[in-house]
Amino acid sequence: MGVSRRRLLQAGAAASVAAAIPIGQHVAWSMKDFERDGYSPDYPDAPPGEESWMNWSGAQRATPKQLASPKTLDELAEFVRTSPDRIRPRGSGHSFSGLVPSEGTILDVSYFSGLKAYDETSGIATFGAGTTLFQTAGALQAQGRTFPNLPDIVDQTLAGSFSTATHGTGATLTALHDYIRGFRLVTANGDVLDVNAQSNPDLFAAGKVSIGALGVIAEYDVQTIPAFNLRRILKVEAIDDVMDAAEATADAHRNFEFFYLPGTGVAATLTHDLHEGEITGAVPSEDDETLAGLKQLRDTFGWWPWLRRRVAQSALPSGTLEDVSDASLELLATTRPIKFNEMEYHMPRAEGLAALRKVVSKMDRRKDAYFPMEVRFVAPDNAWLSPFHAGPCLSIAIHAAVDERFDYFFSDFEPIFRSHGGRPHWGKWHSLKRADFETLYPAFNDFNELRRTFDPDGKFLNPHLAEVFGETFNA
Ligand SMILES: Cc1cc2nc3c(=O)[nH]c(=O)nc-3n(C[C@H](O)[C@H](O)[C@H](O)COP(=O)(O)OP(=O)(O)OC[C@H]3O[C@@H](n4cnc5c(N)ncnc54)[C@H](O)[C@@H]3O)c2cc1C
Repeated sequence: MGVSRRRLLQAGAAASVAAAIPIGQHVAWSMKDFERDGYSPDYPDAPPGEESWMNWSGAQRATPKQLASPKTLDELAEFVRTSPDRIRPRGSGHSFSGLVPSEGTILDVSYFSGLKAYDETSGIATFGAGTTLFQTAGALQAQGRTFPNLPDIVDQTLAGSFSTATHGTGATLTALHDYIRGFRLVTANGDVLDVNAQSNPDLFAAGKVSIGALGVIAEYDVQTIPAFNLRRILKVEAIDDVMDAAEATADAHRNFEFFYLPGTGVAATLTHDLHEGEITGAVPSEDDETLAGLKQLRDTFGWWPWLRRRVAQSALPSGTLEDVSDASLELLATTRPIKFNEMEYHMPRAEGLAALRKVVSKMDRRKDAYFPMEVRFVAPDNAWLSPFHAGPCLSIAIHAAVDERFDYFFSDFEPIFRSHGGRPHWGKWHSLKRADFETLYPAFNDFNELRRTFDPDGKFLNPHLAEVFGETFNA
């Protein structure tokens, strides 16, 4: 986005001379240590005979007895049936919440990957559940097909994405699990069930978003659409203007999202619309350079919010920064080499902007926050545990650098999200428990009943799932 460290420092040098910052305060702030307790980028040390696992951000960690990767459906079913230990299925480990950690077995379906079948008439494709979104997109591209939408990155597996209701942005576009037309489920007793809306409507509605609580999914049938190109416009604008226009902008564009840069009063907006004709190609992302610049701004001027804002506004570009066109895959997803922790809540759309204004104002009062917030729009679907069940949503995601504290997500921001009827992203940080979910989801108890029927002994529980479903957990 063109806010380089150099540019911020130049703007900052000019502003700080004019402002004559008291030197003692400046030194105290610039020596502040932001690192959170317990942070480690390394895998946990496993005792002899155990394995080591951690998630993408490193904040979820486990030393399971076994990391299992069954190679065939028979092997998978037999493994699950005979396992004396609890089992947690995993995908690419990109969830922030405690869905995967287990001291028993952590199991992946990486051998169940790739395109298995494609029906030209219906556009329905069958994929192994361990296929990543990137591999899926590549295989579909070869057929001239694609998914209607994508999340920010494409490293996640299909099973992982669908199971947590992973989504992109677009007022008329549903989350990814809505593309599912059928799935193959291995239950705790080793049964293999082929499930679709006709064969078992309840299990279908429950299994699309099931956080690995009903069993291990080996395969999906997914609806695809013809490949398409998009035109992207990236702008930098005042956050107040962006919020005032957000409802109308979301309705006017196929995909609309924006990122608020804390402490700056400035937001970057992204719109995507269908495009026909010549394509320009995407331009390389400058997200990392922007993040480094925002961190520098926080480190140098965070103690003086007014100065930080002034420096940011004089250093940040404004207006249209990008106007490009390319295949949907090239524009909708990106990479995130700089790691973070994240909380995301999905508010009913009518409540979303009121919540957002409070979140922006609170974030601006946090001197230590610098990671951009992301705001997206998602259309409703009918999966029982979909946060988008029964109504359109506005989603707000807040982030903190991977090595920095994020306890304030829970104390400062989660209460705002909750007071506006927010439902948390299943794969991101939240503190909710069974009683909360019973209030938020009309079909939560139906899901829990079904889960108990298929897994009466809690083979697929871990401490986090036990809290979600209100079960006692004895390791
Ligand atoms: C950098 C980054 C960017 C992200 N961007 C977005 C975004 O734009 N939009 C969004 O909505 N989310 C986003 N997420 C969150 C992410 O999409 C979800 O957490 C997703 O679940 C991760 O998929 P995974 O393959 O890593 O699965 P994991 O995190 O490993 O597992 C997720 C869940 O799926 C279950 N599961 C995995 N495999 C199976 C299986 N075979 N059978 C049954 N259950 C299974 C697990 O038990 C677990 O409950 C992002 C995360 C990161 C780290």
